[in-house]
Amino acid sequence: MADPVSIAMGQGSSCWGCYQSLVDIHLNLAQVLPALEIKYWQAVADFKLHHLESYEDKSIVVGLYEGMARTEEDIHLLKLLRQKCQVLIAFGSCSCFGGIPGLANFYDIEECYDVKFRENATVNGGKVPSENLPGIAPVVKPNSSYVDIDIYLPGCPPTSKLILTAVSKLLAGEPIELPPHTVCHYCDREKKETPIEKVLRPYQGIAEPDRCLLEQGYICLGSATWGLCEGQCVNKGATCRGCFGPPPPILQDHGANSMAMLGTYAPLPPEEIKEQVKDPLGTFYRFDYPTSNLGQIRIKREEVKHR
Ligand code: SF4
Ligand code: SF4
Ligand code: SF4
Repeated sequence: MADPVSIAMGQGSSCWGCYQSLVDIHLNLAQVLPALEIKYWQAVADFKLHHLESYEDKSIVVGLYEGMARTEEDIHLLKLLRQKCQVLIAFGSCSCFGGIPGLANFYDIEECYDVKFRENATVNGGKVPSENLPGIAPVVKPNSSYVDIDIYLPGCPPTSKLILTAVSKLLAGEPIELPPHTVCHYCDREKKETPIEKVLRPYQGIAEPDRCLLEQGYICLGSATWGLCEGQCVNKGATCRGCFGPPPPILQDHGANSMAMLGTYAPLPPEEIKEQVKDPLGTFYRFDYPTSNLGQIRIKREEVKHR
């Protein structure tokens, strides 16, 4: 048997869903685990940061980083993984684009503190804690702005099948080449190339089962989204919310592309679209606001404020 491949798995600010998806490969873990030498995975075993710090630079073959880097501790761990690992994988959409936690950038840090501490009825005294906690960056920046990322494995979370494919390629020493198609490529629904007459919220009406949801008026981001999930939502009746982000080139503006797609399909007056799309930022930038052009402007503005 070939020597095991060393791997370190770090976690920034995240929900642990991506590592849950890794664990969900179930019995396939029995084949994968013996081929891995786990050097660091604080989420499942009692590894300490000093263990990771003690390794020689670039002595670990693969590093995975789940989540985005909001605290000083997150940023330190991300940089440390880059320093110790030959290949660094951004694991999941938080790590690739800022993800759901990146929506915090709609507000400034003081507004976030208000919600989390000062005006939160469950927090005693309503004060922002100042001791024994890592500092918090004023804004969520993409992980790629702190370190070079070698491989992007998006998804919220990445599917177990995608993870297994990627890990198997790594173990075989082969490049991870992923198909570039959008979600529409995998969708069984028929497109009749007809314009949208009215934008609908998901609870409005019952969608025809075999026809493109977007053409029926439901906002489906499938045509702007990387289809690494193989269309798992749209083929079960739900719209695509865009959780895998844009197809390659990976850091293009997914939100802007999604809005352009809606504009192409819905030749409606802007006032009507504004009335019917209640939460445009949350709808089109749900998973990738920090890497979008709009999000970059916001990040620069906040950084200037906190200089
Ligand atoms: S990408 Fe989704 S599943 Fe993964 S850590 Fe972020 S929020 Fe959780
Ligand atoms: S827009 Fe959505 S529903 Fe329509 S074909 Fe693409 S993935 Fe399917
Ligand atoms: S269909 Fe869209 S929302 Fe559903 S898993 Fe795939 S990319 Fe994510």
